[in-house]
Amino acid sequence: MKKPNQEERRRMCTRKRRYRSQGDALEAAMLAGAGRGRTAYLCPLCRQWHLTSG
Ligand SMILES: [Zn+2]
Repeated sequence: MKKPNQEERRRMCTRKRRYRSQGDALEAAMLAGAGRGRTAYLCPLCRQWHLTSG
């Protein structure tokens, strides 16, 4: 499996929803009913938060 290159990482970032804070991201995950097992991470590309899909 090859590592995602910069272009692919940027695409993953832009496809994902962004949150201004970790709290916002986790709250959104809970409201969506998918809170369990999902965590938020600070994205190095946009400096905002995304939720993991796992
Ligand atoms: Zn991002």
